[in-house]
Order: sequence, then C-alpha cells, then structure tokens
Amino acid sequence: MAKIIDGKVIAANVKKQVREEVEKLIAEGKQPGLAVVLVGNNPASRVYVSNKEKDCAECGFKSYEYALPEETTEAQLLELVDQLNHDDSVNGILVQLPLPKQICEQTILHAIDPKKDVDAFHPENVGHIMIGDFRFLPCTPAGVIEMLDQSGIEISGKHCVVIGRSNIVGKPMAMLLLHRGGTVTVCHSKTKNLAEETRRADILVAAVGKAGFVTADMVKPGAVVIDVGINRNAEGKLCGDVDYANVEPIASAITPVPGGVGPMTRAILMRNTLTAAK
Ligand code: NAD
Repeated sequence: MAKIIDGKVIAANVKKQVREEVEKLIAEGKQPGLAVVLVGNNPASRVYVSNKEKDCAECGFKSYEYALPEETTEAQLLELVDQLNHDDSVNGILVQLPLPKQICEQTILHAIDPKKDVDAFHPENVGHIMIGDFRFLPCTPAGVIEMLDQSGIEISGKHCVVIGRSNIVGKPMAMLLLHRGGTVTVCHSKTKNLAEETRRADILVAAVGKAGFVTADMVKPGAVVIDVGINRNAEGKLCGDVDYANVEPIASAITPVPGGVGPMTRAILMRNTLTAAK
C-alpha cells in the first residue's frame, strides 16, 4: 500500500504561509494584487480562473479579473497587458491559456513584464529557472517538489523519470529535479521502449495528458509516482495519467487525481504572487 500524498493538505499549508506574509504587507498598507485575464469561453479555463480568484481571497490578495470576448484581437490583448504592466496596484499578471487561435500565445507571454510574470513563462524567467537562480518558480513543477519535500522524499541521488517535455510541465520539472540532485531522464512521444525507461525510475512523474497511460508494468515496485495529468475518463470522471487502481498497490507513494498536483500548482502561483509583491 502506497503512502497517498495529499496535495490538498500540503497546498493549504503553503497558502497559510503566504497568507501570514500577505497580512504583514496589508498592515503596511501594501495589499498585493493579481490580475487574471481570461479570453473566450473555454469552460475549463473558466473553472481555473474562478479557483485562482478563490485562492487570492484566501491568501489576502486583491484579484482583478478581465474577461474578454472570444473575438478579442492580439492587439487588444497586448494593449491590456501593457496597461497592467504599468499599473502599480497589479503585482502579478496571469493570462489564462489556451488563447483563441487568432492570438499568438508566445507574443502575449513575452509581452508580460518579467517582474510580474507569476506563471514564470517569460523567456527571462525560464532562463532563471535553467540557471537555478529562481525569481519565480514554475508552478506545477515547483508544486511537485514541494510535495516530495513535505512528504520527506529525498530527490538527491535518485533516478527521476519525467514523461512529457512540454514547456509548462516536463522541461521545467526535469530542471528542478536536476537542480535538486536527481539523475533525470526525460521521455516523450518519440521515446523508444518507454516502459524500460520508466521501470528504472525511483521517482516517476507523468505529464502526458492521457488517462490511464502509466500502467503497473511501467512502474518499479517501491517507486514514488507523481501524476500531473488532468483528464476525463470514458465515464467523464476526472482522472490522471496513471492507472491508479493498479499502480497504487506497488508504489511506495503516489499522488491522487483530483487532490494531488492540481491544488499544488495553485498554491505555488500564490507564492509567486507574494514574491512579485515583495
Ligand atoms: P502537452 O500536451 O504539452 O505535453 C504532453 C507531453 O506528453 C508531450 O511532451 C509528449 O511528448 C508526451 N507524450 C504524448 N504521448 C506520449 C507517448 N505515447 N509516450 C510518451 N510521451 C508522450 O501537455 P502538458 O501541458 O505538459 O500537460 C500534460 C498533462 O498535465 C495534461 O493532462 C494537463 O492537463 C496536465 N496539467 C496538469 C497541471 C496540474 O496543475 N496538475 C498543470 C499543467 C498541466
């Protein structure tokens, strides 16, 4: 039986620490603010944005929501970003992805002032992450590291296998594990003999986006399994990338979906907003 790593409990701890710091800033008359920009009608994005607003309220941040219509042009969005870059009451700016197809995501992300880039997607911040001199933490990967730390799981010297090489999860995840002394293998859609690679993992991180992708035969008995995936199964139920029912009995520790990495991503966003305010 694996230890279940409870993301909700760990995220609550992180947000409590943030709240304490924010209260000090509020006492000095400096309440930090986060601007959240949503373009279009993507239902999942709506849920994410409303959760982020709840987190802001919980941590004591002021949140400013900008809900723009689906047909917003790139120029209009750039104008809003520029306005927020120059607004002193806004410490952090978050543009919810994905954006409608007429808007180039890269152009927008690169236009955000790197000092307000709480998602850590701007190339300047990505560069900082690569060097290991962090200003903002990549939210999901840093959430995973926090879960490992708070669960007493050592990274240094471990063989860490990350499935997925996206800019949001896989690549920065590999970087953070490397900075912490892990020996890291990154697998992706072109990897040959995937199961052979994943079976070597002491710590296996799945960030693929396919329900039930990681099966028990891909996991070394006793491995720590971190499931980043957020998917819907055939019955429409929220689930991760890991075949939880069959992998849990052989893992030493595992994160559930929901209630695992998801809440951690949101908690680290709050920590980044505090960093931006400071
Ligand atoms: P992505 O689609 O950008 O990347 C998926 C990666 O999986 C790619 O690098 C691809 O090479 C790899 N992949 C695809 N098929 C594969 C295969 N057959 N074998 C090996 N590798 C394969 O997705 P992403 O943005 O990195 O997100 C991945 C998952 O994590 C999604 O389910 C997403 O919803 C979820 N996610 C969760 C959080 C969170 O807070 N929990 C945050 C971000 C993303």
